Amino acid sequence: MIELDTEWLAAHPLPDPAQASDKNARGRLLAAGGSLTVPAALLLTGEAAFRVGAGKVQLASVEPAMLGLGLRFPEAAVLTLPVNDEGEMAGDAGAAIAGLVERCDALVLGPGMGMDAEAAAILAGLLDAAPEVPMLLDAAMLAAVGDAQAQVLAASAPIVLTPHPGEAAALMDCDPDDVCAELAEAAAARFGATVVLKSPQTWIATPGEPTLTYRGGGPGLATGGSGDVLAGIIGGLLARGVAPHVASAWGVWLHGKAGRILGERIGPIGFLARELLPLLPGLMEQPF
Ligand code: AMP
Ligand code: MG
Repeated sequence: MIELDTEWLAAHPLPDPAQASDKNARGRLLAAGGSLTVPAALLLTGEAAFRVGAGKVQLASVEPAMLGLGLRFPEAAVLTLPVNDEGEMAGDAGAAIAGLVERCDALVLGPGMGMDAEAAAILAGLLDAAPEVPMLLDAAMLAAVGDAQAQVLAASAPIVLTPHPGEAAALMDCDPDDVCAELAEAAAARFGATVVLKSPQTWIATPGEPTLTYRGGGPGLATGGSGDVLAGIIGGLLARGVAPHVASAWGVWLHGKAGRILGERIGPIGFLARELLPLLPGLMEQPF
């Protein structure tokens, strides 16, 4: 296992910004999720993608959230997905997302989604119609990954899973206290995916790659919206064409380093997830 540090990052650089000066060429991310109870998680995810250099961001969510999201986020396009009787995302949203993602380079699916969203049907429909789109699955969508194992394994594009200990325990049928490198590696092998197992210590496991571990960050990162920001950072880098293992490593490091800086500047706890966002561009430029 390798400690994720600036030496590792220097050996795995991000794409040169000068090589993709057109906004379409620099990466287009679709972030889908949200619910009536957590309508604005996608703002964190979408802004994080812009902050790591994605050229275009689209947000897709349940209809009542859309106008508010669009007005709060003038840089993004907002798109409406089908809802069920509870007002949560319906199963046929999977096919709808597959249609939208054709004009994108990567997808983040899950931030802010409710437990009543029809996650299993959404994921099955999406992977059926768009198995070739790099995607990151987070939060409530992770609950659907176990049932879709065969489809996830068969997907032709990279898939990144970002569980916290509770989500990892549900995915792998174990105790949240048992999170460790071997669990991340077992999940990566089972789903043929990059697994970012998030906790005070984070492990990044990808089949065929050496597992990375990162212990930076700090307790202030244990705060609402923190994971939504991380999902947007990794998703934005995927959209820029960065390989999933490298995008995940950079994402975990940028998120952790921004958390450490806020910990020193504001206080060890009490900063907001959204305050991580403006630190990201500078950190990408001078991590070494
Ligand atoms: P989530 O639970 O999905 O909001 O994600 C929380 C994020 O904060 C993950 O990236 C965790 O690795 C990180 N995190 C949570 N607690 C700590 C901690 N005590 N020290 C460092 N990072 C943490
Ligand atoms: Mg989370």
